[in-house]
Amino acid sequence: MDKLPCKECGALILPATFQKNHGSCRLCADGIKKETCEDCGKEATVLSNIDGKRICIKCNMSRTKPTTDTWKQSCSIEKHPFKIESLELSPYPNFEDVFLDKKLEGFFYPLCSVHFSGKENDKKHVFHLVSYNGLWLDQAEESAGLNEGYSAFELKDGKYDFKGNLKSFKGYADIPDLYRFLKEDFERSGTEYLNTGMTEEEYEDQVASHYTKQSESFDRAYYIYTFFNYAIKKLKQSRRQGAENLFSAFNTTDFIAASEELIVNEKYFAFPANLVNTIPLGACWSYEYGVDGNNTFAFYDPEKSLVYNVNQYS
Ligand SMILES: [Zn+2]
Ligand SMILES: [Zn+2]
Repeated sequence: MDKLPCKECGALILPATFQKNHGSCRLCADGIKKETCEDCGKEATVLSNIDGKRICIKCNMSRTKPTTDTWKQSCSIEKHPFKIESLELSPYPNFEDVFLDKKLEGFFYPLCSVHFSGKENDKKHVFHLVSYNGLWLDQAEESAGLNEGYSAFELKDGKYDFKGNLKSFKGYADIPDLYRFLKEDFERSGTEYLNTGMTEEEYEDQVASHYTKQSESFDRAYYIYTFFNYAIKKLKQSRRQGAENLFSAFNTTDFIAASEELIVNEKYFAFPANLVNTIPLGACWSYEYGVDGNNTFAFYDPEKSLVYNVNQYS
């Protein structure tokens, strides 16, 4: 069925809509106000605020094209400083192999470690993709090391030195104790939970009946739910071979499409990291790890030895 252009704005619409609204799309028929694009001067219904101007979709796309073209180059196997064939994946690495500071346990989940060799000198590099899903940040406490956009870590001998402050997490004072409880319980009974197919609700009820300390300062149910799903997925992974779907490298179409969007919209982060100048590494999809919420995209700044674990909400 061929679509027809709306007589007012030119958007392509179904013939049925065309007929019903006497040649107009639904937006125009509803009288949604058209505005003048401040770039091309044409009338449009959908505009966004870009650098203090009202810009139509077409102009927005042509504005960002140079950036996305540069970025696509950065993600190409030819231009990338690491050999794609050297990629090795370690899903669910041990906490001690990822973080220098033990205090971070319970705040960050290690999703996977990726190993690459450099093209130039064959030097081996290791990076970690980590997530703080299950927790919320206190906006007033955000910093360039930890914020809604990303968490930043300095690489020191293959491990992460956290550049943010744990106080940025809501409930940070109560989390270590609850985490310890959950961890010890899961070490004792996790296999049983998996084998008996315990549900998230059953787990939550069980925790509530054994862990009675109160805390109003954070979303406990979300935290417990995330812990449980991650721990179960990790246990399942330990019983199988292979790691498909656990990491999408820098050259995959999934990674490129979504990271391109992050690059273009980074200016809306409270603390921009200038991602377009970093080396793209790849992404972990939160769903695959049971950590409901943001996906994790990793970018490497070799000059500062920083790795940005960027939150990508799909
Ligand atoms: Zn229209
Ligand atoms: Zn325009």
